[in-house]
Amino acid sequence: MTFNSSEFLALKGISRTAFREEVLSILHHSDVALSTKEIEDKLEQTPDRVTFYRTIKLFEEKKTIHKIVLEDQSTKYRIIYEADKIHHPHFHCLLCNKVVCLPDMPLPQCTLPNGFTIQTQNTIVAGACEKCTF
Ligand SMILES: [Zn+2]
Ligand SMILES: [Zn+2]
Repeated sequence: MTFNSSEFLALKGISRTAFREEVLSILHHSDVALSTKEIEDKLEQTPDRVTFYRTIKLFEEKKTIHKIVLEDQSTKYRIIYEADKIHHPHFHCLLCNKVVCLPDMPLPQCTLPNGFTIQTQNTIVAGACEKCTF
C-alpha cells in the first residue's frame, strides 16, 4: 500500500500544509502509538506549540488519528485509516511502555440500562509485549 499524505488529508477534508503532512507521515510510519512528546521529537520542522497542538486536535476531530488514554491518564495517538475501525482495544506494555492497537479484537460489550448510550469506550489491556516477555 502506498501512502500519500496529501491525498489522505484531502480525503479527510483537511487542507494540506507542509507541517500537517509531516505530522501525518510520522504517525503513518510508526507501528506504535506516540505521545505528543514522541511526535515532537521526530519533527524536523519546529512549529510553535499552538500550531502543533491545533494540528493534533484537528486530526483527532477529523478522525485521522485516535487518542488512547492510558491508566496513568497519559495519552498517545495513532493514525486511523478507516474511520469505522476507530473503536478497538489497545495493549499497553508495562515494561517498555509500548502501546499497540488491536483493531481486530472485539470490544467487550456492555449492556447498559434503558435509555443509556455509549459515547466512548476505552479498553486497555496491560502486560508484557513479545519483546519484554521472558
Ligand atoms: Zn514491551
Ligand atoms: Zn488504536
